[in-house]
Amino acid sequence: MPKNRAPLTLEAIPPRLYLSENAFLGVVLSAVEVFNKECLGILMGYRSGGSGIVVQRAVALQSAARTPREVRPNQAARERVHRALDSLTTLEQPLGWFHSHPAQKLEPALHRLSDADCASLDQGEIEVLTAIWPRRRSRPWSYSPRTRTLSGSLGDYNLKLTAWLQGAPGRRPAALEVYCPFARGYEELTAWVS
Ligand SMILES: [Zn+2]
Repeated sequence: MPKNRAPLTLEAIPPRLYLSENAFLGVVLSAVEVFNKECLGILMGYRSGGSGIVVQRAVALQSAARTPREVRPNQAARERVHRALDSLTTLEQPLGWFHSHPAQKLEPALHRLSDADCASLDQGEIEVLTAIWPRRRSRPWSYSPRTRTLSGSLGDYNLKLTAWLQGAPGRRPAALEVYCPFARGYEELTAWVS
């Protein structure tokens, strides 16, 4: 076979999630605001080609019923928001949801989706999860490619973010690579004042 006819190996590249400054701040400030209860909100943005998901905006849903252990979305409110967004003629689309898992310390499962979380995700939807617990010592923001977690300190809290994509129905959501240049910049910014 001639060289230029070599078959391409088309491997499925897990999409990378790009978190804008707005989206990052929306997600982490919501988690801090309602600690030690869970926050819940909607993610907006767009899918760029095959391998990128760009989250431009994270808007907290104010009508969510919060307890320390679970957050129950107001389904009617969720649908109202969806309909309102559908009527917007913008490139931004609803991509999925974000919520938080608060605790007094980092527990092993805190940055993993619960069974109920997995069940509530529709096919193609993404979920950004923030594990949050009171800060004992300050940590600069950093990303671990191995665990696909973005973690660092904000105010009196430590936070650990993960992103998930619901693929085929019945399968567990897949962990996405998270790319957030702002969080890195945030480390550099706070280095000036700490
Ligand atoms: Zn959860």
